[in-house]
Amino acid sequence: MMRIGILALQGDVSEHLIAMRNAMRGMKIDGEVLEAKRRDELRDLDFLVIPGGESTAIGRLITEYGIDSELKKLVRKGIPVMGTCAGLVLLSKGGDEEVRRSGQPLLGLMDIRVKRNAFGRQRESFEIDVGITALGREPYHAVFIRDPAIEEAGDGVDVLARVENRIVMARQHRILAVAFHPELTMDSRVHEYFLGMKNEDSG
Ligand code: GLN
Repeated sequence: MMRIGILALQGDVSEHLIAMRNAMRGMKIDGEVLEAKRRDELRDLDFLVIPGGESTAIGRLITEYGIDSELKKLVRKGIPVMGTCAGLVLLSKGGDEEVRRSGQPLLGLMDIRVKRNAFGRQRESFEIDVGITALGREPYHAVFIRDPAIEEAGDGVDVLARVENRIVMARQHRILAVAFHPELTMDSRVHEYFLGMKNEDSG
């Protein structure tokens, strides 16, 4: 049985639990979705989601709980990890002035550089249809709430979607970074895509 962990330190944890359960039902995957924050809870997972929230807060709690190395170990084992919004910031290896100034801890698991709150003040929250080929022909209705964007992506990173010419979804091997909030819409294609990352070639 699959064990899917949602990193439960702060942020959109319950929304991801519900969205993940919906996606699993749709894909007829048998498994459990659990909140994980302690080292022992992270150990035997088949998937991990790092939710949106406040990347500074989540980063500090990762340090406080001493689970930094456990999270990195999951990636080394090839366990698929998805970071959404603040989770994307945490996956990155660096960022803009705001990230540098805050000195916030990052996991540095993906070869990307990010800009926090990339869509500016007037557009802090908005919804937009995005063409995401990896999810099929139907546009994906994406919800943005003070979201980051990827400003630089290394050679090993596949860009999956852009909005206003900024990268908002990308993948490196089995790590998926999503700038928007797939847990806040009924469309479960992002979670389904993520769950599909287990068996395919790491790419
Ligand atoms: N701007 C927030 C951060 O960088 C992320 C916002 C969100 O996750 N909704 O932490």
